[in-house]
Amino acid sequence: MQLHFWGAAGTVTGSMHVVEVGGYRVMLDCGLYQGRRKKAFQINRELPFEAATIDAVILSHAHIDHSGNLPSLVRSGFTGPIFCTSATRDLAARMLLDSAKIQAYDLKYVNRHRQRVGKRPFEPLYTTHDVHETVSQFVPIDYQHGFEPVANVRCEFYDAGHMLGSAGVAVDVRKNGSRRRLVFSGDIGNTGTPILREPRSIEGADLVIMESTYGDKVHESSRRTKEMLKESIAQCEASGGKLIIPAFSVGRTQEIVYRLNELFEAGELPPIPIFVDSPLAVDVTDIYRVHPECFDAETVDALEDDDDNDPFGFHRLRYCRSVKESKALNKSTEAAVIISASGMCEGGRILHHLRNHLDEPTTQVLFAGYQAPNTLGRKLLDGVNPVPIYGQKIEVRAQIGKIEGCSAHADRPGLLHWMGETQRRGSVEQVFLVHGEAEPAQALAEGLVEQNVPQVAIPQRGESFDV
Ligand SMILES: [Zn+2]
Repeated sequence: MQLHFWGAAGTVTGSMHVVEVGGYRVMLDCGLYQGRRKKAFQINRELPFEAATIDAVILSHAHIDHSGNLPSLVRSGFTGPIFCTSATRDLAARMLLDSAKIQAYDLKYVNRHRQRVGKRPFEPLYTTHDVHETVSQFVPIDYQHGFEPVANVRCEFYDAGHMLGSAGVAVDVRKNGSRRRLVFSGDIGNTGTPILREPRSIEGADLVIMESTYGDKVHESSRRTKEMLKESIAQCEASGGKLIIPAFSVGRTQEIVYRLNELFEAGELPPIPIFVDSPLAVDVTDIYRVHPECFDAETVDALEDDDDNDPFGFHRLRYCRSVKESKALNKSTEAAVIISASGMCEGGRILHHLRNHLDEPTTQVLFAGYQAPNTLGRKLLDGVNPVPIYGQKIEVRAQIGKIEGCSAHADRPGLLHWMGETQRRGSVEQVFLVHGEAEPAQALAEGLVEQNVPQVAIPQRGESFDV
């Protein structure tokens, strides 16, 4: 068996690995590389192999850095099956469409500039047509139901606890009556994430490809999330201002709504209106509702015990789909909580809310996720003032903060525990650390060696291993 590492190798985006076995090529994830525009465009456009030589794809979860380059693969000639859980299929179908639209939108401005200086316009990486083709190649498979992507290879999905439908994958290769098991961790979730079941280790592993995003960090307790929401909403009511929460539409928004519903059920939510202003979040929440097979026991009980208890909505919460509703919300002068996207304030409706309210001292902005360098979100957290929004300089008088304790990824103790369980339940020979910047990957590698993992490698893009 050969392992080729083509993405999320020495970095966190563009997850893409190829397992070559028995003359077949099975791809694990096909994510979009995200980074500086020019480099990203080149890496995503120029696949490092002939797409038609790939026999099957196994997709760990729907996040764009794992699924977002599938339409390019299909556009380049891949016609095989894409195996994933059914929740991943539904989320990816919606998120890939969004990705195609964002790319077309971005390109419009780039091409306008290119035309002005007499240059040939760029073609989009892929279009909605390519997304439709891709979705028709998805093959949904339940957790812990074996499937054979190619002859003599049997796979199974296990809960990864990272987002709806997320999975770790066991890949069993049979040869001359013996079996070798490669485990691909996918992204490993944080313990205590609401709605989802906890991440679980996979037994019988010989080889492991493992994520290392937070290999050097310890998260705050997720209980802190609810306390911070409660404090900020109380302040919002007292001051009569806006509490603006920039949040990713997929996962983070549903988690925050879940926590708010808990406060509502406990009678601890003051009587102010709460809005989720993001069309993608509205659609994704609908997808959540039809996948109870992914929920933890607490969420299932809440849904079954009490008809009025809805973990994805409650009387004081309103979802805004239309532009008209969003504009009306923008003009309102009353105290309100507004949850909107994009999570790093790089686009989307959140920009209008920030432009209208950042200069008011009664406004609070509470970030609910990682803010990458150079994004508006990071600038606000770093105290930059004024900030540029739609070409205007906006004065910041609002209070800027960050909700602690909500991360979709396991921290260092969580990752070491996951691997400890994997070692205990298998005979791990070698671990390949992916999906991490250099420092956290190295720190985790050291932790794994201390934990008696015989061999740990941190592959770089383009590296291959005979295993
Ligand atoms: Zn992910």
